[in-house]
Amino acid sequence: MWFYENLYPDVKLGIKGELIHRKKTPYQDLRIYKTPRYGKTLVLDGAIQTTEKDEFIYHEMLTHPSLLSYPEPKEVLVIGAGDGGILREVLKHNVKKVYLVEIDDEVIRTSKKYLPSISSGAFAANGRVEIIIADGAKFIRQTKKKFDVVIVDSPDPIGVAKVLFSRKFYRDIFSILKDDGIMARQSGSTTLQLKELKENWRIMKEKFPYVSVHLAAIPTYIGGFFSFLVGSKKINQKDISYDEIMNRFKQLNLETKYYNPDIHFASTKLPTYVKGGLGE
Ligand code: SAM
Repeated sequence: MWFYENLYPDVKLGIKGELIHRKKTPYQDLRIYKTPRYGKTLVLDGAIQTTEKDEFIYHEMLTHPSLLSYPEPKEVLVIGAGDGGILREVLKHNVKKVYLVEIDDEVIRTSKKYLPSISSGAFAANGRVEIIIADGAKFIRQTKKKFDVVIVDSPDPIGVAKVLFSRKFYRDIFSILKDDGIMARQSGSTTLQLKELKENWRIMKEKFPYVSVHLAAIPTYIGGFFSFLVGSKKINQKDISYDEIMNRFKQLNLETKYYNPDIHFASTKLPTYVKGGLGE
């Protein structure tokens, strides 16, 4: 059987695989495919979210650039991320507490059962992890807490995830970040979603003095380089030296398969067509 991702009206990604689980949750159509090439794959509303084979690239690149740019992050908020990959990566840092706000607990339940390697026990790291089942956009409006780093691991701006891309969402994140806080989010493919990247970069730039873009090629996210945005209230990533990032990386003895201090800096070097789109 073939699975075809239908994220775009005129471009499809086909992967040979067998549908092994499907559930219509109150929020989305949730499917798990078993594929010979990419292992088990989580699909939400027809869009590939994560695969056992290449998830590490995305989860490391959405987590470590921001967490290593912040000196000794202690309080971290993760929005979305129901498969547990971001949680796994955040817990490699000496954080005191990480709050995960996921709207659909079916994603957590299903990911634990079918994709255990992605969370790798992160959901059970009690003491340091608090799972909150809620709409992330509502949570950040109500919380009184302040965070060092906020990571938004959302799907594409469709359905319940649309609110995670609004100007109000960025404003609310800005207000729950500490004075020197940093946020990170995925901002789509630099070819198939360049408009989304530009739009999110522009909105982030309205609030955050420092905004950087990191790129990585993720095989199951079609469209060439995939992009990540990092918005910082006070720390200019450009002022942090390679030696400082290497020092923090080594001090944590960070085990990664994609991210490293070279990639930390190299991933911010942008092709002309991306730079141009960002008015740089
Ligand atoms: N981590 C995956 C990857 O590698 O790309 C994809 C992201 S993760 C599966 C996206 C999660 O965001 C889903 O579990 C979805 O239920 C959740 N989500 C969508 N809208 C949300 C909202 N408004 N608040 C909180 N979580 C939301």
